[in-house]
Amino acid sequence: MNQNKIIGKDHQFVWHPFTHLNYAETPIHIVKGEGVYFFDNEGNPLIDAISSWWVNLHGHCHPYVSRKVSEQLNTLEHAIFSGFTHEPAVILAERLIGHLPENQSKIFYSDNGSTAVEVALKMVLQYWHNQGLNKRKFIAFENAYHGDTFGGMSVGARNVFNNAFENLLFDVIHIPLPNSENMDDLINTIKTWIYHHHDIAGFIFEPLVQGAAGMFMFEAEYLDRLISLFRENKILCIADEVMTGFGRTGEFFASNYLTHKPDIICLSKGLTGGYMPLGVTSCAQFIYDAYKSDDKTKTFFHGHSYTANPLSCAAALASLDLMEKSETWNQIRLISESHAQFVKKHQFHEKLNDIRCKGTIVALELKTSEHTHYLNNASESIASFFIKKGIIIRPLGNVLYLIPPYCITLAQLNEIYTAIEEFLAQL
Ligand SMILES: *Cc1c(COP(=O)(O)O)cnc(C)c1O
Repeated sequence: MNQNKIIGKDHQFVWHPFTHLNYAETPIHIVKGEGVYFFDNEGNPLIDAISSWWVNLHGHCHPYVSRKVSEQLNTLEHAIFSGFTHEPAVILAERLIGHLPENQSKIFYSDNGSTAVEVALKMVLQYWHNQGLNKRKFIAFENAYHGDTFGGMSVGARNVFNNAFENLLFDVIHIPLPNSENMDDLINTIKTWIYHHHDIAGFIFEPLVQGAAGMFMFEAEYLDRLISLFRENKILCIADEVMTGFGRTGEFFASNYLTHKPDIICLSKGLTGGYMPLGVTSCAQFIYDAYKSDDKTKTFFHGHSYTANPLSCAAALASLDLMEKSETWNQIRLISESHAQFVKKHQFHEKLNDIRCKGTIVALELKTSEHTHYLNNASESIASFFIKKGIIIRPLGNVLYLIPPYCITLAQLNEIYTAIEEFLAQL
């Protein structure tokens, strides 16, 4: 079908996510993906510097992952997952448990990041409920993003994205990100809360990097102190690793940087290498045990039609095969080191408020008169500057960031850095 027809029909029939209906620019029509590149309808290559909404790990249409998924397509495409099981889901659970922190022992499947979070929240609430305890409050970080379902929105930041639903969201205690200056005060404030409120059920956080907020980064050391305090007080800790999982921060999971391990971990995005939707909520044995009872009302009544879809599990297994190769880790190191050099080079750049990196993620905060937020007008013009240079970068407000697929080469990274330098020079 010709280009005008596709765009015309897109306009007529499709409602895109996070897209302003009046001011949106014409969407770019992607026809093919290969390695680090997308190709548009005119055959122009575009470097995917953001891993296609942070999901892709090994490049688009990776021959190995594609083959494994297509093999699975000829064997089993879907199976009801209550009362039935299948090999890809079982083996994937075993292998994930092998990579997750030692205290994790059970895998609960769903089908995206928001559901992985939703499952975690419900798992915590019912953990207490099953023991006859009325603990319902969650603690979360300011600026957090945990997905677009009601539970995810509730524990996330209150902002323009969820204004319309504000009074339907449940009450959450939001705390600032810890740093060297506020740490002691924060600990004291939390201790006071814990002393006065006996209804705190859990603490949810994005470990080390808050993605959607604008790639805000904080130290493992401080998070560790918080987790330790919460665990001492029997408050369950949920690490939302939907974005940080699978090597993004330079370790397999961001939780690997922590001494005190979370009780529950949420995974999605990179889980399938960016191929298929799949969500995982893993938990420690004691949480699972609180659901083991002759009393049927203690069952965890939660499931999705596409829970543990075999095609998704096959993609995740193939992606894990690649994650276990030393070549992949060499690439992760190469990207991390090259980001670190880029950060060092521009540490004091006059056009930047801040430049920071963690593993394969680098973020530049532009100086702007407007406040940092997503509706900042700057972001669309920034995106189009880079598209003209054949690079896909979509800023979060005034925060420009890279989170590339691991197959990216040094030459391609340098091409992106140069484009960023040109962009900064013309500001
Ligand atoms: C993207 C994201 C989610 C939501 O995942 P979806 O698959 O988009 O629903 C939740 N938590 C974090 C940290 C994320 O980055």
